[in-house]
Amino acid sequence: MVMTDQPDGLTLQPLSPQERDQPEPAGPFDVVVRIAAAGVCRSDLHILMGELPVRVPHVLGHENSGWVHAVGPMVSTVEVGQAVLCYPFVSDGLSSPERRGVDSAAPGRRTPGIDCDGGYAEYLLVTERSLIPLPDDADLAAMATLTDAGLAAYRACRKAATALEPGCLAVVLGVGGLGHLAVQILRSTTAARVLAVDTRAEARDLAMSCGAHHACSSGELAATAGSEATAVIDFVGSDESASSALSILGFGGSYFAVGVGGSISSSILQVVANETRIEGVYVGTYPELVELTQLTLRGDVRPVVVPYPLSDANQALRDLAAGAFVGRAVLIP
Ligand code: ZN
Repeated sequence: MVMTDQPDGLTLQPLSPQERDQPEPAGPFDVVVRIAAAGVCRSDLHILMGELPVRVPHVLGHENSGWVHAVGPMVSTVEVGQAVLCYPFVSDGLSSPERRGVDSAAPGRRTPGIDCDGGYAEYLLVTERSLIPLPDDADLAAMATLTDAGLAAYRACRKAATALEPGCLAVVLGVGGLGHLAVQILRSTTAARVLAVDTRAEARDLAMSCGAHHACSSGELAATAGSEATAVIDFVGSDESASSALSILGFGGSYFAVGVGGSISSSILQVVANETRIEGVYVGTYPELVELTQLTLRGDVRPVVVPYPLSDANQALRDLAAGAFVGRAVLIP
């Protein structure tokens, strides 16, 4: 299977060998969702290739939308038939990180599709707490991609936006499932100039159709961006992408790492002299997903999706690995 430099989404904490041998613990599940669509993420390839161990048998799919199919007796905020988005972290909400809104750091949280069965299926077990109700006429195939790809892009853009005054340069490295959403989010929430970078001409075309002011290949980046970027959001994640990102940052500029791979290398002198800010972005919070949902429902963000029948999941994964499409693949049961 050929790996490309396409952006990654949700990353994983591998199970230890001891954990893999244990039966899957019962979750705090209280809602069954009938799946409308499940996004296909590069993390799914990492699982399939054995780079990220999971218990087997395992159902992939951590980027899900659907309709409430059944509820437990204590559920009160959603009802059967309700269209919903599934926030990727499932937990009881009792830990300190969850009380601060950072469910991604909760010690006991579960992520369906990663450490329990996910949405490459007709039905999914989740919790009431993890659901975001949607209008009946919402495009559930497009909106499924918000829950991981969109959410990580949104969190990165939100962090970047604090320094992006009008006219500042924001650079998006990698225009795949996350990057094409980041371009739209930056355009709709800032007055920055947006430069999108991708090796594929069709991805650059997608970036321009999403509102990027400029698009170039990675080989053209230095000449196009100069050394004045205020923020670089790296959805690729490689030695090369990190190096080129740091080289185009202006004084006080920020590098946001989202895609996973490679290492960041810089002299401390350079970081100090340029007051460079380096920050990782790990998925996002429930309130951020609500905000992104609202942007999408009002048409400011339009996910580009490539639908596959659930029965063609293997083909969708092969096509993702080969970089055979632009946008985000979704599986439709
Ligand atoms: Zn993912």
